[in-house]
Amino acid sequence: MLRKLLTQTSSRRLLSSGIPPLFSKSSISPFSSLSSSPEPPSSESTTVEHPGTTISVDRSSLYTPPDHSHESTPETELVKHLKSIIKFRGGPISVAEYMEEVLTNPKAGFYMNRDVFGAQGDFITSPEVSQMFGEMIGVWTVCLWEQMGRPERVNLVELGPGRGTLMADLLRGTSKFRNFTESLHIHLVECSPALQKLQHQNLKCIDESSLEKKVISSLAGTPVHWHATLEEVPSGVPTLIIAHEFYDALPVHQFQKSSRGWCEKMVDVGEDSKFHFVLSPQPTPAALYLMKRCTWATPEEREKLEHVEISPKSMDLTQEMAKRIGSDGGGALIIDYGMNEIISDSLQAIRKHKFVNILDDPGSADLSAYVDFPSIKHSAEEASENVSVHGPMTQSQFLGSLGINFRVDALLQNCNDEQAESLRAGYWQLVGDGEAPFWEGPDEQTPIGMGTRYLAMTIVNKNQGIPAPFQ
Ligand code: SAH
Repeated sequence: MLRKLLTQTSSRRLLSSGIPPLFSKSSISPFSSLSSSPEPPSSESTTVEHPGTTISVDRSSLYTPPDHSHESTPETELVKHLKSIIKFRGGPISVAEYMEEVLTNPKAGFYMNRDVFGAQGDFITSPEVSQMFGEMIGVWTVCLWEQMGRPERVNLVELGPGRGTLMADLLRGTSKFRNFTESLHIHLVECSPALQKLQHQNLKCIDESSLEKKVISSLAGTPVHWHATLEEVPSGVPTLIIAHEFYDALPVHQFQKSSRGWCEKMVDVGEDSKFHFVLSPQPTPAALYLMKRCTWATPEEREKLEHVEISPKSMDLTQEMAKRIGSDGGGALIIDYGMNEIISDSLQAIRKHKFVNILDDPGSADLSAYVDFPSIKHSAEEASENVSVHGPMTQSQFLGSLGINFRVDALLQNCNDEQAESLRAGYWQLVGDGEAPFWEGPDEQTPIGMGTRYLAMTIVNKNQGIPAPFQ
């Protein structure tokens, strides 16, 4: 069956192209309790007096944006919005809050109003590199569905589908497996109205004129539904979840060890009216997640820690996924750039395929962080005793073991020279070595592959055994 999937030729895109100190929540002075005007900014430590409270904010900038940053350009709506949050909060906001606003603010978030992918956009992802990526995810999905005992009804959920390319390739690639495609209800979890529209187009959706407003993808005759969160996807049905480059977009909190204990890195507005990083005067509520994360680290890991990045949203999302899979059956596949260890400081901004300053012109660049795979594993195992977690393995191992070599060979049989060149280039981008996120490199010598920095992990219902290729 696997071979049939791999050799069946569909040439869609071929033809187009240290442990924190213990503290109680109540001992934390939330910045939000301050209602004074913004602290007098200074490049050094500042003390803010407030009735009943004295809060010392370390304003020594941890990073100073270069002078050329957005000096002459008028402030964007998002910059005004971020500044007003900081002003009315009476103090800095967490890096996580900054990241969430920058990426998904309903009016001006990076993802919300436009197509950000591909050569003309800001960055490129594996599904956009080659149709083979979505096809191989299709192979994985059909194999797991077989292992699940071929259920008649399955919710196939994709978190953050981007342009919808992965799902379109998956559906085209598996369309000959009628029993599989007929079992599917597709649920796309997407916050961006602009990208939802693009997904509708790329999945060749037809809006049925019935009262229920059914939407069907004509690629495989499957119903498609959109949701803002995973919680909105109906449960009670076996579920397959795909999260490709979704976790890296979830907000992270950044902590730094200081003489005051683990303090949180925050974003503030300086005297120069620009955004700057500052350190919280003491541990913040998010440090509760930091403590939890540290309990999953080895003593050697904890010893070395000076900076830690954690994503409570990722932990919560994983728990929701694991609970569903544990009770309804099915599995999740997570592919992203990240590490199989605690992450120290990885947040980065990318605009037009180049790394830029995180605080410069927010909303115009993608912000993403390395995914902490052990934290996903532990969160899933903690949420449900009915799931098992396998991996991570590299993208190269994952695609190789599923048979991408056979697939590329099959496609090469039916194409012209130009298509063959693009197929081979796409293949090497998917499995070769290189920096993550996908980086084209300044010269031809720079490795450009996504094969080793991108990792794959699966969470499955224990009754289904270990899915391919994680055995
Ligand atoms: N999986 C796609 C796109 C990755 S980019 C690919 O590999 O090409 C991240 C995607 O997640 C985008 O579609 C973005 O709009 C969506 N997204 C980011 N944060 C989200 C959130 N909090 N809720 C729902 N969707 C989100």
